[in-house]
Amino acid sequence: MGTEIGGASPRSRLRRLPELGSYDTEEIYAILDATTLCHVATIVDGLPMVLPSLHVRVGRTLLVHGSRSSRLLRSMTESPSVCVSVTIVDGLIVARSTFNSSMAYRSVSVFGPARLLDGEEKEAALEKLINGIIPGRSSEVRPSSESEISRTSVLEVTIEEASAKISVGPPDDDDEDVEGPAWAGVIPFRMIAEEPIPAPDGAVGAGTVPVPASVRRYRERGS
Ligand SMILES: Cc1cc2nc3c(=O)[nH]c(=O)nc-3n(C[C@H](O)[C@H](O)[C@H](O)COP(=O)(O)OP(=O)(O)OC[C@H]3O[C@@H](n4cnc5c(N)ncnc54)[C@H](O)[C@@H]3O)c2cc1C
Repeated sequence: MGTEIGGASPRSRLRRLPELGSYDTEEIYAILDATTLCHVATIVDGLPMVLPSLHVRVGRTLLVHGSRSSRLLRSMTESPSVCVSVTIVDGLIVARSTFNSSMAYRSVSVFGPARLLDGEEKEAALEKLINGIIPGRSSEVRPSSESEISRTSVLEVTIEEASAKISVGPPDDDDEDVEGPAWAGVIPFRMIAEEPIPAPDGAVGAGTVPVPASVRRYRERGS
């Protein structure tokens, strides 16, 4: 086990099924890096709000971006701390009772402050975001215009502390159910990248622009 990044405070310590929990930095980073989909929770006008977003992890931070007018992004910098949740659903755990049925998953909760980036730091973060989502893509497209950059907010969430919860199955049935007639097992799920579909318009639609290396690599990687 490596260094731990959570579990020291009640905020990040699992109480329910703590045996499924992990605070190991590398294990948490692996889950954060296995998807770019997160949900960000903050307080907007005094009320809680959770919205989905893209994220890319850079060291002990998460980068998120969006429209400069996004209430979510604005409220993130106004809150002393935000909570970012990342979930990968790996399957359905079908137990012999509905009570013991659940999902197979890897999920992470991150807690920490968010900071608005500006100037060169913002531009570098935007590059890391695009290359974190599709590695190598930034060198295949035109540079973002000043107006596009100014209409975009980029935030850095410091991973102050974090927790992971990992449920893999098989079902954990009650002893008296195990010899019963009901089927039990796991239905695995997988999110995969399918064959890319070219845009129907312009030169791509006319078939003169081949699928670029970044998109081919992404497809070959599978997700
Ligand atoms: C895909 C999916 C489906 C789920 N379905 C259900 C459901 O239907 N019903 C249900 O009750 N629970 C479900 N869970 C589990 C749920 O996320 C909570 O872990 C559980 O409800 C316990 O809540 P609690 O407030 O008692 O957690 P506590 O253990 O009190 O939480 C304390 C701290 O532990 C950490 N923690 C708790 N849960 C997680 C987590 N999932 N991932 C990372 N860190 C965590 C956080 O840091 C949190 O602040 C599901 C989880 C996933 C990923």
